[in-house]
Amino acid sequence: MSVDQLPRFRWVEVLQNRHAVAFVMCPGQSGRTLCGRFVTLPYVLRRLGFAPECQVCDDAWRREIGVRTRAEVLAGSPRRCHGRTARPTPRATPSSGSG
Ligand SMILES: [Zn+2]
Repeated sequence: MSVDQLPRFRWVEVLQNRHAVAFVMCPGQSGRTLCGRFVTLPYVLRRLGFAPECQVCDDAWRREIGVRTRAEVLAGSPRRCHGRTARPTPRATPSSGSG
């Protein structure tokens, strides 16, 4: 597996939450989470348990890899394409002849 095939990020349990860090960040190293917190990873990484997921990290991760955030998915917003939001073509409204 080459370096190009490695995932970009991974989840770690630090600061009582599940935050995302660069995949290449090793146990014992210090660095920043995707939400901007400075952390030092423990030498033995804990298995991911039930710590709540950091929403800011999740959003940042999704934006980095070019997929919609959970809020965007739930809101049913159209997929972003080249930095622009695709909008449905407006349809001509038929005039209703009642009255
Ligand atoms: Zn975070």
